[in-house]
Amino acid sequence: MQACIDIDGVIAKSLDLFLDIIPDLTDGRVNYKATDIKNWKMEDNEDALGNSITPEEFEKAHEIFSQRASEIEPMEGAVETLHDLALDFDIHFVTGRQHTTKETTAMWLREHGFPEHTLAYVERGQKQNYCMDADFFIEDDPLQAEICNDWGIPTLLFDQPYNQNSHINRIESWHDLINYI
Ligand SMILES: [Mg+2]
Repeated sequence: MQACIDIDGVIAKSLDLFLDIIPDLTDGRVNYKATDIKNWKMEDNEDALGNSITPEEFEKAHEIFSQRASEIEPMEGAVETLHDLALDFDIHFVTGRQHTTKETTAMWLREHGFPEHTLAYVERGQKQNYCMDADFFIEDDPLQAEICNDWGIPTLLFDQPYNQNSHINRIESWHDLINYI
């Protein structure tokens, strides 16, 4: 059986790194808390004082994110649960990360002890082409989850503050997954 799994916001606590980068990048102008990030597009969110990152600042933040990707913490329970899953499923990680992160990402997966896997780089909105035969797919991007769900791929949305409006089946945590498989 085949499992397709996104990386950022699913097995990696990627939002934490963005929230660390943004205050420095904006000289303290924007101070997002995780609960401020109600929309997928970072520019569409406001901090407590009503300030938002600009698209140009976000582009820079994304560059820095890619350079610092090795610092990201794994999501709680992800490594352990994936080892359990790997007894029955081939694990395929599918990421929309920048291609410059290829080495860092491969090393991060190894160093944190994720089970044997494949790793594919796929543009946002195109993962359905890669995950077509998956027995399930886990994603935090509400748009990509919606597309895969429409394609008939059993899709689970990993709970994040920026995907609360989606009606796709949701898991709150990696420990929660066991109820769905
Ligand atoms: Mg993601």
